[in-house]
Amino acid sequence: MINLEHVSKTFDTASGNVHAVKDVSLHIEPGEIFGIIGFSGAGKSTLVRCINLLERPTSGRVIVDGQDLLELNEKELRAVRKKIGMIFQHFNLMQSRTVAQNIAFPLKGSGLSKAEIAQKIDSLLELVDLKDKANAYPSQLSGGQKQRVAIARAMANDPKVLLCDEATSALDPQTTQSILKLLKEVNERMGITIVLITHEMAVIKDVCHKVAVMENGCVVETGEIVEVFTHTKHQVTKNFIETTSSVSRIHELMAQDSPICRLKAGEVLVQLKYDANNASEALISKISRDYQVDTNIIFGNIEVIRHTPIGDLIVIFSGSKEGIDQAVECLKTNHVSVEVLKQ
Ligand code: ADP
Repeated sequence: MINLEHVSKTFDTASGNVHAVKDVSLHIEPGEIFGIIGFSGAGKSTLVRCINLLERPTSGRVIVDGQDLLELNEKELRAVRKKIGMIFQHFNLMQSRTVAQNIAFPLKGSGLSKAEIAQKIDSLLELVDLKDKANAYPSQLSGGQKQRVAIARAMANDPKVLLCDEATSALDPQTTQSILKLLKEVNERMGITIVLITHEMAVIKDVCHKVAVMENGCVVETGEIVEVFTHTKHQVTKNFIETTSSVSRIHELMAQDSPICRLKAGEVLVQLKYDANNASEALISKISRDYQVDTNIIFGNIEVIRHTPIGDLIVIFSGSKEGIDQAVECLKTNHVSVEVLKQ
């Protein structure tokens, strides 16, 4: 269904060339759910955007359903693009249009009659279980409902391929599960090939058949899910498994109200996302000392800290409000992003 042959993409920026994708070759079978994983900046989005030519590769070939997209003229490309739906992390709905109008948008110029379009919208609303929301505006919907609308819109032209760029990253775990169920249904019932970028282990394990692991623009490992996760060959994959498991585990523990993440008064549970060059356990202990904040690291493996380009650490801070605020500020000036999970 999708053949990427030696695809590379370089961006020219003011500060020089960025080689976002380097010589990637991938074969994705019809009907497969194919996951693309890797840490932030690995090149996942750029690679997936090359599949529908939202990004034009600098070199290589992109073959979808037997057609070499780089050889097509504008009109031919438009026709092929209709067969490749896409959904995004932040849904990308048109705020001033209703759910039905959003879904109808890709059908413009399709040659369908008004009645046919109305019927199509009806069946898409039924597919995504939003029949009662046809006249609602996106601002009146929950995150999960918005993503359902985006899926219905992406399905309007009966695509053969659906590209999902971090489609569940902005959703809570329960909503994530319902969106994944819908994607699986779409894949099984309609045979749609799905390419899915994610950094969530649950997403990969629950829905993907195969996976490619990216680092620094390259695919470092690819294969059947079971194979890649049980006979992991590459260190990046190992790091990814450890890091993402700790983050999803803490969310699971929080949902269960586990004693591990039950907080005393004044404690804050935070997730630190950092660049290993800028943060280390030394920074955390310096902060604890300077601002008299106690730190209790509950997830975070020092090996992972040293070796991953981007890591995650889950920490409980306790101390005065001022001390914690100063510690958070200090982390930020050291390029560590801090997400408060619970306080
Ligand atoms: P990922 O999806 O794995 O987080 P991306 O594909 O978004 O990675 O980015 C890969 C690299 O390409 C990053 O270094 C990013 O900064 C760079 N990049 C992505 N898009 C552009 C762009 N439009 N212009 C310049 N650099 C870009």
